[in-house]
Formats: sequence, structure tokens, C-alpha cells
Amino acid sequence: MIDTETLRCATCGRAVAVADAHRRETYGGLDSDAWQTLCCPTCGSRLKTVFVGGE
Ligand SMILES: [Zn+2]
Repeated sequence: MIDTETLRCATCGRAVAVADAHRRETYGGLDSDAWQTLCCPTCGSRLKTVFVGGE
């Protein structure tokens, strides 16, 4: 499961668990039901865009 993953913020260097990351809707035309952008809770930088929908 993806929620066990840890991401490292390239901007502030914080290690952020996926479960702790802020989630935002994507932009650029991706379906927000299927894709979310994970953002650093410390500095707000985008960490990763993840697929959350489908099977
Ligand atoms: Zn950060």
C-alpha cells in the first residue's frame, strides 16, 4: 500500500510519510478522482503525484 511510503522533500529536506502529506487536486487536466498531488506539510512543495483511483 502506498501509504507506507516515505517521500523526501527536495526543498526543505524533510522526510514526509505519504499519510502525512497534504493532498491537493492535480492540475493540468488530470482527473482529480484518480490523481492527487502530495505536498510537503512544512514548505508546501509538491512531492509527488499519485494515482488514487481505479483498481
Ligand atoms: Zn518541504
